[in-house]
Amino acid sequence: MFVLEDQIRKNINALKPYASARDEYSGEADVFLDANENPFPNGMNRYPDPHQRSLRRVIADLKGTKPEQIFTGNGSDEVIDLLIRVFCNPGKDNMIILPPTYGMYAVSAAVNEVEVREAQLTPSFQPDVEATLATSDENSRLLFICSPNNPSGNLMDRSAVIRLIEGFGGIVVVDEAYIDFCPGASTINLLADYPNLFIIQTLSKAWGMAGVRLGIGIGDPKLIRILDNIKPPYNISLLNANVAIKRLNNPGKMHDQVQLLLNERGYLECELRKLKLTRVVYHSDTNFLLVKMNKANEIFRFLTGQKIVVRNRSNAILCENCLRITVGTPDENRKLISALRPIDNIDE
Ligand SMILES: *Cc1c(COP(=O)(O)O)cnc(C)c1O
Repeated sequence: MFVLEDQIRKNINALKPYASARDEYSGEADVFLDANENPFPNGMNRYPDPHQRSLRRVIADLKGTKPEQIFTGNGSDEVIDLLIRVFCNPGKDNMIILPPTYGMYAVSAAVNEVEVREAQLTPSFQPDVEATLATSDENSRLLFICSPNNPSGNLMDRSAVIRLIEGFGGIVVVDEAYIDFCPGASTINLLADYPNLFIIQTLSKAWGMAGVRLGIGIGDPKLIRILDNIKPPYNISLLNANVAIKRLNNPGKMHDQVQLLLNERGYLECELRKLKLTRVVYHSDTNFLLVKMNKANEIFRFLTGQKIVVRNRSNAILCENCLRITVGTPDENRKLISALRPIDNIDE
């Protein structure tokens, strides 16, 4: 039986959170003399709501959850860090990642002095369920599954994810940063059945707000309350929350851009496959393509010289000679292909 309280670090469970002025009094009033703010209105002279209630309500409506199931952080990176701090005792507990995957899990673990155990994905970039569960022990608190996965681009097999959630003793974090490019595949509808599932999403990718820094955590309201207790009270600025609300209220624009980017991904896949430089264009459920090339380092340097920057992933496990290419505007994608065509006889 999974009991959330038993998983949480003792000091976090016992924490008496900082009570901000806006926590102690959040109702209506004519005169606010409680927070040492500058009283002259300019649209931002007051502290923002530490629980980001309006923002979370809009997100909950979009995701089909209750507002109490929604956490908002300064990017997903803050959510990742907070989860590690809630569950992992430094120097004692460990967490599991599935390489090749997103780099921040291991960086955040290192900052918090938490051991990282690796269970490599299979050559088709799917979790090896038995091997993954075999790396865990009674001190394993978190298992990070990135789906769709960065840098490989594919969704993780749903039945494998479910077997991991059922078999793992701690919290399974499914990072769905790219889920808006394949919305039917979210694990949100598994939350009701699995109290140890926690989902991370972001406004940085499909929503076009990487500059805003807004990450989303979705899960058990009890865990959301714990995360609220330990985060810096005003982690989302008023300006950021307002911009996000405005754009979230117009999802049509996001959906149109996603459709265009998916069409463009198809164009890039097709054109890249025609090149002799290309060995494999891996299947993608995201707005990027992992491409195995002949001589990826040389192509990377050549493209940089043409002022076109892609990501060289050659040094990541299972990604030898791979470039990760983000789908750009139609014009940008055609520039990339036109730049590659003249060097397509590099090996001959
Ligand atoms: C881009 C990305 C994020 C987003 O991080 P933010 O801090 O929300 O910008 C999270 N996870 C993965 C796997 C990503 O690729």
